[in-house]
Amino acid sequence: MTQALASPPPAAAALAHDEARWLAPLYPLPRLELVRGRGARVWDAAGEEYLDFTSGIAVNALGHAPRGLAAAVARQMRELGHCSNLFANRPAAGLAGELVRRTGYERVFFCNSGTEGVEAALKFARAHAAARGRAGRDFVAFRGGFHGRTGFALSTTWTPAYREPFEPLVPGVRFGEFNATDGLDTLIDEGVAAVIVEPVQGEAGAVPATPAFLAAVRARATAAGAVLVFDEVQCGLGRCGRLLAAQHYGVRADAVVLSKALGGGLPLGAVLLTAELAAALRPGVHGSTFAGGAPAATAAAWTLARVDRPQFLARVRRRGEQLAAALAALAARRPSLAEARGLGLLRAVALAPQAPFGPAEVVAACRDLGLLVTRGGERAVRLLPPLVVTPEEIGEAVARLDSALTRLETSGAEQP
Ligand code: PLP
Repeated sequence: MTQALASPPPAAAALAHDEARWLAPLYPLPRLELVRGRGARVWDAAGEEYLDFTSGIAVNALGHAPRGLAAAVARQMRELGHCSNLFANRPAAGLAGELVRRTGYERVFFCNSGTEGVEAALKFARAHAAARGRAGRDFVAFRGGFHGRTGFALSTTWTPAYREPFEPLVPGVRFGEFNATDGLDTLIDEGVAAVIVEPVQGEAGAVPATPAFLAAVRARATAAGAVLVFDEVQCGLGRCGRLLAAQHYGVRADAVVLSKALGGGLPLGAVLLTAELAAALRPGVHGSTFAGGAPAATAAAWTLARVDRPQFLARVRRRGEQLAAALAALAARRPSLAEARGLGLLRAVALAPQAPFGPAEVVAACRDLGLLVTRGGERAVRLLPPLVVTPEEIGEAVARLDSALTRLETSGAEQP
């Protein structure tokens, strides 16, 4: 078990000092230094072991250092590393073909991150509306949704604290109530170019859309002639037990944004598109220097081939049910918890309104007990184990969360 960060070893203190001295202060410091990982476990600089239920925020689908990935990327790097989009490379074309074959979409646009994928998807949608002679250029997004930190993506992200410092943002964004079917007719009208929604809201704390809501959004977008974009940056690529989370719902969007787990730990994003939507942007209108580079595409193809297997995804669903049941039992027993929620291995526990502590205290207490988790929304703690997590590791993680809550419930910590 690890000690609290209050008395870090000298090397950690030096790193913390350097980070505070040299980095722009955008992340809470000091932070735990990780030096090594394997599967669902990581080790810090002092040699302490942790169960990692953050997975690099839903990136490390196959856990830390999956056997074979480094060799595949190194082989590609020795042959051809970066060459830019001035030239073709076989790994990217092959990956695009695999994504098309496995999802039924017709075209792929590569980028480097989730936010870039959202930017691109919304650009495709606006250009598509213009190409069809539609007047509508607005976007509809939903409360609680998180789509990224760049212009279009931030404008459609709900959290006011993320948006307000940068206003004025992209105009013409309307926010609706997530999971409310009433009012969609007026929210999504002919003035709307695109509707963007996460089938399972990740940053908000693993909040799944209801089937009725997603179906109603699809129907209303179609009726209004708006493009429907699913942001599956966090919930996609097997995290919820299907390659795309939307497959749980039987609802299909016109475009899907993937990132996080796609690149196997290297930065990569992809927008899956219908052929009609893809044709809305002409050559040169949008692009990126690094996007679809051979090394990242190699890592992605390697990851995709392992995640998108029926037996693997069935196991993710079983593990998800195990984690859901254990968290539901905890929520029923713990006065500080209001509920457990999520889908597949994208899970959260929400703190009860009367809990005398917040998610940050839970994250810190879990870390002290050798479990890494992260906040979700204002009052929840997210659990994002790698998709290769074992039943024993799930049991161990929930036991540590339980101990962390015992510690907090009995210590009478003040609300932050
Ligand atoms: N969309 C969703 C649903 C996300 O969860 C995130 C990041 O957490 C993003 C978009 C932005 O992705 P990135 O941080 O790679 O830009």
